[in-house]
Amino acid sequence: MNHYLGIDIGSIAIKAVVLDDHKSILEEHYVRIKGEPAKIANSIINNTQERYKIAAVSTTGSGGKLLSGYFVNEIVAQAKAVAHLHSEVKTVIEIGGEDSKLIRMKDGKLSDFSTNTVCAAGTGSFLDQQASRMGLNVEEFGNLFLKSKHAPRIAGRCTVFAKSDMIHLQQKGTPEHEIVAGLCLAVARNFVSNLGQGKKWEKPISFQGGVAANIGVVKAFEKLLGLKSGELIIPKYFASMGAIGSVFQMINT
Ligand code: ADP
Repeated sequence: MNHYLGIDIGSIAIKAVVLDDHKSILEEHYVRIKGEPAKIANSIINNTQERYKIAAVSTTGSGGKLLSGYFVNEIVAQAKAVAHLHSEVKTVIEIGGEDSKLIRMKDGKLSDFSTNTVCAAGTGSFLDQQASRMGLNVEEFGNLFLKSKHAPRIAGRCTVFAKSDMIHLQQKGTPEHEIVAGLCLAVARNFVSNLGQGKKWEKPISFQGGVAANIGVVKAFEKLLGLKSGELIIPKYFASMGAIGSVFQMINT
């Protein structure tokens, strides 16, 4: 049996998956980068090669070209993974550390996409920065969001406005969970207005990328888009869809 390793080097984290000939996903790794992407990726390669017979390595992501391997464009990789794992999906929301993408699918194929690489307010890094400014971990945002009753409106258009709105709310003594909920809603609103403007939100929608781990942002999308249960899918390997799709593309499946 052959095995394949897919690696997605992003701005914040490296995602790596091992697949076999039956397209089963045998393992997934999510490792925060902290400055040394090639070193971390190479140690993942060495470690998996010791345990599996790796026939080929595919790469994707903004840092994917740091490695030798079969390089796949990120949008192609995200679309390929969702087409295989959730063929019912019509729209993909992908939010990573420093960019976001809206991908439309038709008959199991990529039909259209738009990306946002300029506006930091709608990304994972912005959420991370605001969390640390508030003395929180972004991992806590989901539970805090769920406590919210009256989320304040925070400007989502630009990081500078968002930050000043948040400082103002903190000075007024607004509870932390309400500010967090306002922030998650601002990120989702930023995505909807920047990338989704004038477009139809065909359902079901898949939410992929590291930010899909943030239940606060998941709930914010459900609220803003008026989604019912089952209309927003979080794939099991939401963060690694790019890495998985790069393998599918490489083995031409
Ligand atoms: P990139 O591809 O640019 O490296 P990712 O798709 O890995 O980015 O997304 C990174 C972002 O995902 C982080 O900035 C963070 O906001 C978010 N994230 C990752 N893990 C979690 C988690 N457990 N809880 C909440 N947010 C998370």
